[in-house]
Amino acid sequence: MNPNVLGYRCTLCDRAYAPGEVQYTCPQDGGNLDILYDYVSIRTNYQPEDILAGTEYSLWRYLPLLPVEDPGGNATPLRAAGWTPLYSPSYLKEKTGLQGLWVKDESRNPTASFKDRASSLVVARAREIDAQVVVTASTGNAGAALAGMAAAVGQKAIIFAPRSAPPAKVAQLLVYGAQVILVDGNYDAAFDLSVQAAEVFGWYCRNTGFNPFTIEGKKTAAFEIWEAVERGFINHNIARPLKVFVSVGDGNIISGLHKGFKDLQTLGWLEHMPQIYGVQAEGSAAIARAFFTKTEEITPVTAHTLADSISVDLPRDGVRAIRAAAQTGGAYIVVSDDDILSAISELGKAAIFAEPAGAAAYAGLVKAINEGLVTPEDQVVVINTGSGLKDISAAMKAVPPAPVIEPTIDAVRQVIK
Ligand SMILES: *Cc1c(COP(=O)(O)O)cnc(C)c1O
Ligand SMILES: [Zn+2]
Repeated sequence: MNPNVLGYRCTLCDRAYAPGEVQYTCPQDGGNLDILYDYVSIRTNYQPEDILAGTEYSLWRYLPLLPVEDPGGNATPLRAAGWTPLYSPSYLKEKTGLQGLWVKDESRNPTASFKDRASSLVVARAREIDAQVVVTASTGNAGAALAGMAAAVGQKAIIFAPRSAPPAKVAQLLVYGAQVILVDGNYDAAFDLSVQAAEVFGWYCRNTGFNPFTIEGKKTAAFEIWEAVERGFINHNIARPLKVFVSVGDGNIISGLHKGFKDLQTLGWLEHMPQIYGVQAEGSAAIARAFFTKTEEITPVTAHTLADSISVDLPRDGVRAIRAAAQTGGAYIVVSDDDILSAISELGKAAIFAEPAGAAAYAGLVKAINEGLVTPEDQVVVINTGSGLKDISAAMKAVPPAPVIEPTIDAVRQVIK
């Protein structure tokens, strides 16, 4: 472990634990654990300039702010997670009327989703504690990321996925050489089973909203956004704070972004908190509902949305996810599957190919503009969390089919727009 890690603190009861005392959630109440750092020591040893001048172009450039030691794995995909591009697409700027619109494209991670940030950290942790096997439940992307990051360094991985996971994601798991177990049930059933199996067989469990290291990997996206602010690409100030839009299922990514910005604030490296907007699908909106009714009590739903990566009955990181919006002056936005399909096609016109859960964030921005939550002077970062190649059947629903024609010029003339 990084010597700057002081231990853990429960997000529900505030109880603090020493580094060796707990592994997953709070033994008292099952609350999610935050990792605590010795920020004074970090601040004494590092300046923002040290980070900004880093020459490692991956999330490992933030090693002093991560809970693990350097995991090695040089020149492997483990070392390539993070440091994703930030685009400023003219087409979308014109469509939304926002001059300060940015899209952070997480589909450019090694296994093509945001989940690589978490899985690379968990694999690094697994190596530190000499875990023989890492396991996770996943709707697809977390598993693909764990399988890929594990394969990168020769770590054995076992993935539990619902049998309904999109075929491209299952293919990815299998090709990375993980043992894949398809559960005849939904993600929630796979989640519970994987936690039990980890306990019975002594595996190290990566599960989202369960393992405290996932959020520590995910927070690095906030660090990258901060670097873009520091370099002057993004304007962010007290009068007009940056707005970050991200889709939400279990609530771990949004909580990770919040943790990243909080770490930077505590270090004194970020003056003002950006506003975080969570976007959920209408049919899977347990966190948004709790947010709207101003409670931290989350009532599970029976999730139905084509955005499989954010289709969750019982969010596993709901409390932190609510706070991420509530404590930053952000909000939750709920979008329909049709809104998501339109967003896939709009992002595509800017050369960004998003899976439904990735496009949901842009759908949320469009809705926020229509509701007056975002105005033309605002600076906005939309995070595309996953690649459209992960779910081709959803992509095909977002666009009209291509015509099939006879091989003649006349036939071409008939169909060209
Ligand atoms: C996992 C995932 C999300 C949601 O992240 P949570 O931590 O579950 O809220 C969004 N988009 C994609 C593509 C994902 O894989
Ligand atoms: Zn607790």
